[in-house]
Amino acid sequence: SLAVRDVHLSYGPVEVLRGIDLDIPEGSVTCVIGPSGSGKSTLLRALNRLAEIDAGTIALDGTNVQTMKPERLRARVGMVFQHFNLFPDHTARQNIMLALTRIKKLNRSKAREIADAQLADVGLLGRGEQRPANLSGGQQQRVAIARALAMEPEVVLFDEVTSALDPELVKGILTLMEDLGERGMTMVVVTHEMGFARRVADQVVFMDEGRIVEIGDPDTVFDAPKTDRLKRFLAEIL
Ligand code: ATP
Ligand code: MG
Repeated sequence: SLAVRDVHLSYGPVEVLRGIDLDIPEGSVTCVIGPSGSGKSTLLRALNRLAEIDAGTIALDGTNVQTMKPERLRARVGMVFQHFNLFPDHTARQNIMLALTRIKKLNRSKAREIADAQLADVGLLGRGEQRPANLSGGQQQRVAIARALAMEPEVVLFDEVTSALDPELVKGILTLMEDLGERGMTMVVVTHEMGFARRVADQVVFMDEGRIVEIGDPDTVFDAPKTDRLKRFLAEIL
């Protein structure tokens, strides 16, 4: 589980996170919604220290993440990005093996075994030799998800992972994520896919201007918004 307490983060003079309090219980799916620039990606990046906070605390199972080595933290809190961030000169299998050999210090044959099992799990059995350029966007995103899962993370962060995909590929990735959630993975998902949020989320977080403006179960957030800001946001996107 993650416990976020009064987290502040600024870029120069601009305060991008302005006092975030959030609990991510083990085995839960949290969907984060909100307008562009509201701080959704920054919040995710703060959770695994791709961005460093200025004040407040973030605890992973009771341990302050600031006291952890970033690479160790990122093995426990995995992340999947909108633009996949695969290494283009590596095959799908090598992309997955890299962190297993470098950070988990597994030998190559064990890393290869895990990589191939993860590729099979995301529907890419037999595609391990392909480089990213020879895979579709949906397949590349599957490799990125397999890479994150191969580390056996306690939490996986997803930042708009379907936004760069062709429409016909979106559903497959969402189904994969839904299955992960059903298997009990703790997930924090920044998404514009409101159908997914409604169906899969245990809690929905609405952010605006660096703050959590509303938080609750999907039915409450989508059907009974309390603030004008959330009402306006939902009216614009739905
Ligand atoms: P979007 O929906 O467009 O992805 P977001 O909610 O993810 O938006 P963030 O990317 O977290 O928003 O950005 C929040 C604010 O912080 C924005 O004003 C952005 O310009 C600023 N920002 C983000 N990253 C940096 C950075 N590395 N340096 C300076 N400013 C940044
Ligand atoms: Mg973003």
